[in-house]
Amino acid sequence: MKEGRYYEKLNGGRLQCRLCPHLCKINKENVGKCGVRKNKNGELISLNYGKISGLHLDPIEKKPIHFYLEGTQTLSVGSFGCNFRCPFCQNHIIAKSIPPTRRMSPKEIVEEAVRKGVPSISYTYNEPTVFYEMVLETAKLGKKRGLKNILVTNGYIEKEPLEELIPFIDGANVDLKGFNPQIYQEVFGGDLDVVKRNIAYFHQNLHLEITTLVVTGINDRKEELTGLFHWLASISPEIPLHLNRYYPSYQYHADPTDIDFLLEMKGEAEKVLNRVRCGNF
Ligand code: SF4
Repeated sequence: MKEGRYYEKLNGGRLQCRLCPHLCKINKENVGKCGVRKNKNGELISLNYGKISGLHLDPIEKKPIHFYLEGTQTLSVGSFGCNFRCPFCQNHIIAKSIPPTRRMSPKEIVEEAVRKGVPSISYTYNEPTVFYEMVLETAKLGKKRGLKNILVTNGYIEKEPLEELIPFIDGANVDLKGFNPQIYQEVFGGDLDVVKRNIAYFHQNLHLEITTLVVTGINDRKEELTGLFHWLASISPEIPLHLNRYYPSYQYHADPTDIDFLLEMKGEAEKVLNRVRCGNF
C-alpha cells in the first residue's frame, strides 16, 4: 500500500480521488469504482502498489504495438483493478477481483527488464491508469536506464495526472471501445469524449496505436464503426487501428464476432486509414 496521488480531502473524513474522470467521492474505509483506491483514515491509499499479478516477456506485437520497436520483446507487467466495467472483459480475474500477486518494487521491475535485455516495459493486463503511482515510478526509473515505456490502456484518466505521466511514456495502445456515447456510459462506464480527448493528446506526444474489439450486439453497428474510422482519420490517417475479434467471456455470451463482418469493416476502415489490421482470430 502507498498513499495515492491526485486526491483531495473533504469534510467528515471523506475524500475525492482525482485520478480518473469518475472523480469518486469515497467514504472512510471504502474504495472507489476501480476497487483499488481506498480511503484509509481520511487518506487515499493505492491498494495495488507493488503488487504484481503478471510479469512476462511478450513480443511487442502482442500488446498490440505493430509499428514501434517491431520484432522486439517487451517486459509486460500488470497488477489488478480497472475503472471500466465491460461485461465481456477477458481479464476480469485481475480487473474485477484481487488475484494472487507477488511483491516487486519499481526498481526490481526495471532491473528485470535490463537483465532480460529487452528494450521496453509494457504496463498492461489490467488498466495501468489505476496502477498510477507504480507505473509513474517504474517508467521514470526505466527511462533513466534507457528503456522505453508502453501503456496499454482504456485512456480514461484525468488531464493533470496524464500530463505528469506522459513525458516518461514512449508508446501506447488505447482501447477505443466503440463510438456511441450512450453505450460508452451505460455498458463500459465511461465518457467517450474524455477518451477521444486523451487519444488526441497521446497522438501529439508519443507513438499511438488503437484497438477496437468489435463486440457482437454492443458496438458492431456499421454506421458507428464508420464514424470511429473517420474520426480517427481526422486525427491522423497514419494511426494504426487494430480491429479485433471478440469471444464470449465474463458476463457476456453473444456469439464471437462474425469474421466476414470484421473483414468488411477492415475494408471500410482502409478507405480512410492507412494501417488497419484484424486480429484475435
Ligand atoms: S481512479 Fe479509482 S477511485 Fe480514483 S476516480 Fe477513478 S475509479 Fe474512482
